Amino acid sequence: METVVAKADLENGKVFQAAAEILKQGGLVAFPTETVYGLGGDALKADAAGKIYNAKGRPSDNPLIVHIAETDSVYQLAADVPEQAKKLMEAFWPGPLTIIFKKKKIVPDTTTGGLDTVAVRMPSHPAALKLIKDSGVYIAAPSANLSGRPSPTTAAHVMQDMQGRIDMILDGGAVGIGIESTIVDVTGDRPTILRPGFISAQMIKDILGDVTIDPAIACMDKNLRPKAPGMKYTHYAPKGQLTIVEGSREKVAGEIERLVAEKKKAGYKTAVLADTDNVGLYSCENVFDAGSKKNEITVSAGLYAILRSCDDIGADYIYSESFEECDMGYAIMNRLIKAAGHRVIHVD
Ligand code: AMP
Ligand code: MG
Repeated sequence: METVVAKADLENGKVFQAAAEILKQGGLVAFPTETVYGLGGDALKADAAGKIYNAKGRPSDNPLIVHIAETDSVYQLAADVPEQAKKLMEAFWPGPLTIIFKKKKIVPDTTTGGLDTVAVRMPSHPAALKLIKDSGVYIAAPSANLSGRPSPTTAAHVMQDMQGRIDMILDGGAVGIGIESTIVDVTGDRPTILRPGFISAQMIKDILGDVTIDPAIACMDKNLRPKAPGMKYTHYAPKGQLTIVEGSREKVAGEIERLVAEKKKAGYKTAVLADTDNVGLYSCENVFDAGSKKNEITVSAGLYAILRSCDDIGADYIYSESFEECDMGYAIMNRLIKAAGHRVIHVD
């Protein structure tokens, strides 16, 4: 299949018409959102979900997020819309928050990976909203990467993974946030965060007065089974072996330099992810400026692109500094620790 790439120019009605037509016919269109690029198909067509799983090489027990453009659409998809959900929708939609609801029958089991719940989000990216509105389709979309690869934050990343596997890619440039949406489950007794993201636990607490974090991600224990099925897979991984080194900045830089020298001597290629303020501490090769802890969105926005660059240069071993575990830092570390397969060294 030929994959058409087109600029997601909001003034260009023809492009959106073509994309909408593909979705209506049951085909697949990758599109930009404010978090990462999504791989979209009609959420209410059972075989569209099947095509998404095929294109991604993703296990079919890993449910998809349904993207909507109007709050009212929730009532078509969800069997129950609790008060807490209404408050979250009011506060954070459109935006990077996915909410889990009990599903209605019209949502096929293939879309929800066999669960009786459905994940719903209203993205804020104008191209995503236009695509949903123009097609009249609720768009089921996971991230538009091959399963196990870092999520795509540019159309070029989508092309790397999906060329020949999907019908169309809408190119909206680099995304703003760079890591996937926060997922919150309001179907149980206590609202629970199943995946951390830009919308932090504190932001949710400010609205609901209470929120807990799924223990499987709170302590990042690989032996616990997360409630969001997707969180159990080795996601976000670069091909090289990633290790996170934690501690005071000089000691971390010293240890990373030592590890790099050791690997280099053994004939391996290495890469380093360092905070903007620390890049100058390194003299080894392939040191990537991973953004600044002082402004965490600069880290999240570039993280997956850097992990892909590590693959592009053929890095065998990758060493990353740690990026504080608070607010957005918490979400960033959740992705990094998974990408590192829980390999973390403490040097203090
Ligand atoms: P992706 O958009 O590729 O990050 O994948 C969607 C994520 O949402 C995966 O981690 C899924 O496990 C999660 N998800 C989707 N639907 C549900 C649901 N009904 N309950 C819990 N998690 C879900
Ligand atoms: Mg994904």
